[in-house]
Amino acid sequence: MPGRAPDETLDTEAAPTGVPDGAPCGWAPGRARRAHADRTAARALETLYRQADQAWAGFRCPGTAECCQLATRGREPWLWGVEWDALRRAAPALPPPRADGGCRFLDAEGRRCTVYASRPLGCRTYFCHRATGPGREPAEEMDRLQRRLEAVARGVRPDEPGPRPMSAWCEEPGP
Ligand code: SF4
Repeated sequence: MPGRAPDETLDTEAAPTGVPDGAPCGWAPGRARRAHADRTAARALETLYRQADQAWAGFRCPGTAECCQLATRGREPWLWGVEWDALRRAAPALPPPRADGGCRFLDAEGRRCTVYASRPLGCRTYFCHRATGPGREPAEEMDRLQRRLEAVARGVRPDEPGPRPMSAWCEEPGP
């Protein structure tokens, strides 16, 4: 398809409509459509995260998790809803707040991310001043990925106003 990257092919699996044969009496088409949208978004998000990792592949940091000490550094990741959904699938029981103000998803020692494979785009692409890389930061690719992420997020929540800080998401009721 002209103008579309191979990794961004549209999901051709039809969204469920109507009542399927043999559906139980309580079958809700609205819920089925939302579940379909969630699955589609989860796949698209995985692809997008892989692309982000590739774009930053040559960059390295000391891996001390200082950047995950959110209160200390005075900044935190901002997530679209679809990213929060991915985090909650990886950690269905939301960890309690940490005494040191670090991200809740750090391990007990505060050294490792316990949801590393599902960490949001902001965590994948934030590097402190001690990071090193092969050259210029991939700004154009980041812009593209941010736009793509917004499109993926709005596929699930069309009216979502924008990304929110992780601390705000942590206040949301569980799934
Ligand atoms: S989600 Fe993981 S990488 Fe991101 S701030 Fe929390 S512990 Fe760090």
